[in-house]
Amino acid sequence: MTAQPLLNVAATHVGTRALGPGIRSVVWVQGCPFHCAGCVSPEWIPDRPARQAAPGELAAELLADPRVTGLTLSGGEPMQQAAGLAALVRRARETRDVSVVCFTGHRLERLLARPPSAGVPDLLAVVDVLIDGVYVAALNDGRGLRGSTNQRVHHLTRRLADSGYDFAHRARDAEIVVNGPETLLVGVAPRGFPAVFDTAVDTVRARMRGADANNPSPGQEGWS
Ligand code: SF4
Repeated sequence: MTAQPLLNVAATHVGTRALGPGIRSVVWVQGCPFHCAGCVSPEWIPDRPARQAAPGELAAELLADPRVTGLTLSGGEPMQQAAGLAALVRRARETRDVSVVCFTGHRLERLLARPPSAGVPDLLAVVDVLIDGVYVAALNDGRGLRGSTNQRVHHLTRRLADSGYDFAHRARDAEIVVNGPETLLVGVAPRGFPAVFDTAVDTVRARMRGADANNPSPGQEGWS
């Protein structure tokens, strides 16, 4: 059996409605070459070691919730770890026929003409919806699953094309997950959201303090 590449993972989240149709699990990879001004996850831009995870291990983790019907791949830049992510999707689909949404800062034409890593064709072959292009803060219209209007939604398969989910124009959802000192924004931030992020986190923490003090599970709140 061929050894599968380890993924360098910034974060994962199981079970969200904020990053695509239905209930999905998300993997954010570590490392991005683009350095967009206004990036909401600048700590995931450096190409440094984070969590090293095998595709099979991640697939099991992301599908632990039986309600999950899709995976969303984000970052960081997924195309830098395309071979590992393609292996992850293949392993996941051995268990469940999940749909796949993938973000990338590269334009699709570039991915096809000059793939930035060897696994890009394999990854594109298993992606249903690709959202491409770098984030441009001045073009953030607060709508859709794409962060700014220059980014495009490509239905690489018909799987989600007739789902009724408007990738380009729907009202955005965002969830904040608070786990001890760590906070995680799940979703595409509504316009102006970073400015109120700290206030939102404080709100979640206050609600957690008011909840069962013996409940060790992370707190989660959604905004839209
Ligand atoms: S492509 Fe995405 S992760 Fe990379 S810098 Fe731009 S917004 Fe941040």
